[in-house]
Amino acid sequence: AETVRLLSSSQVITSVVSVVKELVENSLDAGASSVDVKLENFGLDRIEVVDNGCGIKAADAPVMAVKHYTSKISCHSDLERLETYGFRGEALGSICAVSEVILTTKTADDNVSTQYTLDHNGNVTSRKPSHLGQGATVSVFKLFKNLPVRRQFYSSSKKCKEELRKVQELLMAYGIIRPALRVLLTHNKAVVWLKAKALDHRTALMAALGTSTVASMVPLQHRQEQPEIILEGFFPKPGSNPSLMSSTTPDRTFVFINNRPVHHRDILKLLKRQYGAHVGGEGAPSRYPALMLSVTVTASAVDVNLTPDKTQVMLQCKEAVLLALETM
Ligand code: ADP
Ligand code: MG
Repeated sequence: AETVRLLSSSQVITSVVSVVKELVENSLDAGASSVDVKLENFGLDRIEVVDNGCGIKAADAPVMAVKHYTSKISCHSDLERLETYGFRGEALGSICAVSEVILTTKTADDNVSTQYTLDHNGNVTSRKPSHLGQGATVSVFKLFKNLPVRRQFYSSSKKCKEELRKVQELLMAYGIIRPALRVLLTHNKAVVWLKAKALDHRTALMAALGTSTVASMVPLQHRQEQPEIILEGFFPKPGSNPSLMSSTTPDRTFVFINNRPVHHRDILKLLKRQYGAHVGGEGAPSRYPALMLSVTVTASAVDVNLTPDKTQVMLQCKEAVLLALETM
């Protein structure tokens, strides 16, 4: 049973960025308006996510990290109108299976916060009062300590830097799609990225792409019915300076489907064709454009159950979305 648990957990928690993703989504689901992500040794020694959300009630603490416990859906039809990022009740338990976890939390009704130490099965092994404010702080130590090959894999300096870049990209995505969210990313106590609470998408986008890049972008919007599709975002002006675009990875091409940051291959391909640029002549590989695209469709038209990390989604009305995008 221990081995099965480790195997299934290692499919949900594949990397440093997947831990950050699950913890940050829990913070957002808890209604947090501020999220701090603190990494030590690129997350391999410590990943800590501090939020100011609703926190976890003492009565729920014994089961919070037990596999398949979720406070977010109670029946299957809830899946059709999903408004939270999480719904499988897998993340906390899976993180516990591959690291050492300490969770500190305080709800509005609690007088003091409580610090829980969790074991590999997600059970609470000890608890003590602590001094933190309302919300939850999840500290993940020694990631993949029981998966030495994977830990080794992420220890190379190339992988470390790539993971940090992906963490930053992910936090930028949440910061953009939720302008009011404050986000801080630190590595070994140094600030890597900070986004203040913003009033709109444009201002939030500036925190990610820089003021001058956003200044040369135009807002576009498209609404249609049958199928109901809303496309909105900020796109490079035709002929804008290609040096402002990102390299061959789509790390500044922010695409959202129903507020989830996604990597949708066909959408990315189209955006690259439409807005990307050849830097260094026609023969050079085309570059992904820096832009923001938010796609909204009816919840029942999206299947986010494709991969455990939910970054790949299936769109029922994909062709219609691509067509609308092309003619926008
Ligand atoms: P899921 O997000 O799919 O429900 P998780 O394993 O990620 O499953 O979390 C389990 C439960 O723990 C959540 O349903 C929620 O009730 C609680 N929880 C986790 N993180 C937080 C947090 N930061 N703030 C408040 N509650 C949390
Ligand atoms: Mg979750």
